[in-house]
Amino acid sequence: ALPRLFVEPDLTAGAQLILGKEQSLYLAAVLRKVVGDEVVLFNGRDGAWLARLASDSKKSVALDLVEQIAPQTPKSDLWYGFAPLKTERLDYVIQKAVEMGAGTIQPVLSRFTQVSRLKHERLVANAVEAAEQCEVLSVPKVEAEVTLERLLDGWPADRLLVFADEGEASSSPVEALTELRGKKIGLLIGPEGGFSDEERARLRTLPYVVPISLGPRILRADTAAVAALAVIQAIIGD
Ligand code: SAM
Repeated sequence: ALPRLFVEPDLTAGAQLILGKEQSLYLAAVLRKVVGDEVVLFNGRDGAWLARLASDSKKSVALDLVEQIAPQTPKSDLWYGFAPLKTERLDYVIQKAVEMGAGTIQPVLSRFTQVSRLKHERLVANAVEAAEQCEVLSVPKVEAEVTLERLLDGWPADRLLVFADEGEASSSPVEALTELRGKKIGLLIGPEGGFSDEERARLRTLPYVVPISLGPRILRADTAAVAALAVIQAIIGD
């Protein structure tokens, strides 16, 4: 498969694009691409484009745009909120959220969240890399972190919030999710230590919150995220 790169500029027939240092080094030095070799570019707006190296300088690779090879796919409407985890698990949940079709990724700080300062740029870079690797044409928006309280206070009236709650009595999420087909939804997953009893109680009283169980076992937060995104995609799609 051809290497896929996310770029910022507009992609139009006949245009030439000069890559920055990092992407140039990746193509020319790591992948050893030379003049005439092909790559695929996307910017989240103009679909996927075939491009050909016009220069293989390790500092500034130039690419000639050849043709659009896939139209732009619509941005997913799925909102995904999660309590940030420590380094590798954080990278993992961002990657998986992109692969599983989240449209917006929102770090949420709750009482037992163990990570409070996030490197936003790193999260965005991770989302871009995941999109490049799994042929997603629109990179999800990664929002700055927000506290659970502020999130709930400002929750939009037209969206329901699926809350993965290990204390939910009904054993299967299928019925609850089936009823949400065609609606705008968000998904909320708690931190390593779970949500506090007060947070869980508040969430469960809100009219727009739909608690779901992911089975009788307590899952790790990163596993719960993947499991919930998988059942949502299987039952609701995006
Ligand atoms: N201590 C473990 C860890 O380090 O990840 C488990 C954390 S679990 C409490 C984290 C979050 O995953 C919970 O807040 C909840 O959102 C979700 N979760 C885990 N198991 C679940 C289940 N069986 N049903 C629904 N949600 C679950």
